Amino acid sequence: MTTRFKIIVAGAGPGGCVFARDLAAAGHEVVVYEKGDYETLGHNWSDAVERIALKEIGLDVPEEGPVNKGPLVKKVGRSGKGPAIFEEHAFPEMDVWAPDYSSKKKIHFRYITTDRRALGKLLADQATEAGARVEYGYEVVKPILEGGKTLDEVRVTGAIVKELASGEETTVQADVTADDTGFAAALRTQLPGETGISEKFKESEFAMVHRTVRQRDKTKAIEDIVRDHYRYGFYTGYQWAQELNEDEIDVGAGIKYKAKVPDPQETVERFIAKHDSITDKVVRGGGGLCLVGKSPYSLVANGLVVLGDAASQTIPMTGCGAGGAMMGGKLAAESVDQAAEIGQADISALWSYNRKWFVDSGRGANYAALTALRNILQKLSNFDNSFLFRKDVFSGDMLTSSINGIFQVPTLSLMMKTGLSCISRPDLLLTLNKATSIGTKLYKHYLRYPKSWNPRTFESWSRKSEQLFLKAQ
Ligand SMILES: Cc1cc2nc3c(=O)[nH]c(=O)nc-3n(C[C@H](O)[C@H](O)[C@H](O)COP(=O)(O)OP(=O)(O)OC[C@H]3O[C@@H](n4cnc5c(N)ncnc54)[C@H](O)[C@@H]3O)c2cc1C
Repeated sequence: MTTRFKIIVAGAGPGGCVFARDLAAAGHEVVVYEKGDYETLGHNWSDAVERIALKEIGLDVPEEGPVNKGPLVKKVGRSGKGPAIFEEHAFPEMDVWAPDYSSKKKIHFRYITTDRRALGKLLADQATEAGARVEYGYEVVKPILEGGKTLDEVRVTGAIVKELASGEETTVQADVTADDTGFAAALRTQLPGETGISEKFKESEFAMVHRTVRQRDKTKAIEDIVRDHYRYGFYTGYQWAQELNEDEIDVGAGIKYKAKVPDPQETVERFIAKHDSITDKVVRGGGGLCLVGKSPYSLVANGLVVLGDAASQTIPMTGCGAGGAMMGGKLAAESVDQAAEIGQADISALWSYNRKWFVDSGRGANYAALTALRNILQKLSNFDNSFLFRKDVFSGDMLTSSINGIFQVPTLSLMMKTGLSCISRPDLLLTLNKATSIGTKLYKHYLRYPKSWNPRTFESWSRKSEQLFLKAQ
């Protein structure tokens, strides 16, 4: 007989809301505590969000077309009238340029530009409509821990929740507590170090991103054509321009956090200065740190599941994490509901979430391999990256896969082609071989993720993962 679980969720990000929505719909008692408020959920701009994830969580996503000029206006409120959350922009094909603009590749861009404020509200509304309670202005301060210190022993039995207006703290007991607090991972990082999954993300696991949405001067735009594009491998990161609609253009850049290269804001301003049609009028925008790190080796503990950025469910090549967070929320909810069928919320009962994320959905295995690839390739200069574009080692296929979060296991013919293309650059060939070989090993290793919870098997699997990641430094 299915037990009705009491579930609390820290954070109303995309992962937390989908998780809460699905479990409330399955009949569980769910409360989401969000330290911010309804109006400021998400962020103040539009993101490229994976179409597949939006569809998987049940949203009606417009079909791909050369450009969507349908009735896709950004508006959705508490009334929740339909998911009209997408920008008009929706090019399925995009030009990806070499850092020095010497060559470009066409890629299939499987994202849709989505207003993150509107998406945030829509998902929170859906959670509420399904029967979850969403409490704004409440911060989850720490998990309540019982048992010993190892992953096998420690149990999360709820959390201390603070009402921000009054400062009053309350102890809330729960069968399952979910950490969806973003990359600070406020609950996971307060587990004992002995669990092996409590580490904070390191500085090297972040990108620094700046984006600005500017008003365009339509008369000048006739002459000053700015095609949607992405510049890949530019100063350890990327730079992009996307026409959101007739009036607005989104220009941005990202670099490895603290890399000794020009600041992304400077790159963006330099780009804008070259284009007459892009005015000084800032419509919205912002930026900051964007997680591109690796997941902890387990996303569950006794009584705990970790979602979204707190679990690093972001695509390592781009930092796109809204899709991963929603998928994490969906998969975790399935596992928690299955655990309720046997009336247990211990690590064994919740383990299937790990398997779903790392193996069955393929996401975890792909992201691990791409993390290794990125760590190694990030050391290449603009000159090296441009060379690899010209030689078609960075081909349309390869870029389509990695930008969409998929690791391409190299075939023999691909390796031969790479070898021939880099004959004049043995140093680059060595770097590429290292990246693809460690990436492939990690990918295969993740597909052998432990099928069920066993402390010894898990420890040996984690040790091997650590060794592989160390080689990718
Ligand atoms: C500049 C920038 C650009 C990005 N661009 C893209 C993009 O183009 N595409 C894309 O897919 N992703 C993008 N991302 C990443 C994306 O925003 C995240 O991966 C995604 O939002 C993670 O979702 P989440 O479920 O982890 O929750 P988050 O969105 O991280 O939200 C966490 C929520 O928890 C709340 N919270 C935090 N701590 C507590 C606490 N202790 N108690 C209660 N509430 C708490 C916060 O207020 C917040 O509402 C970008 C990120 C940045 C910074």
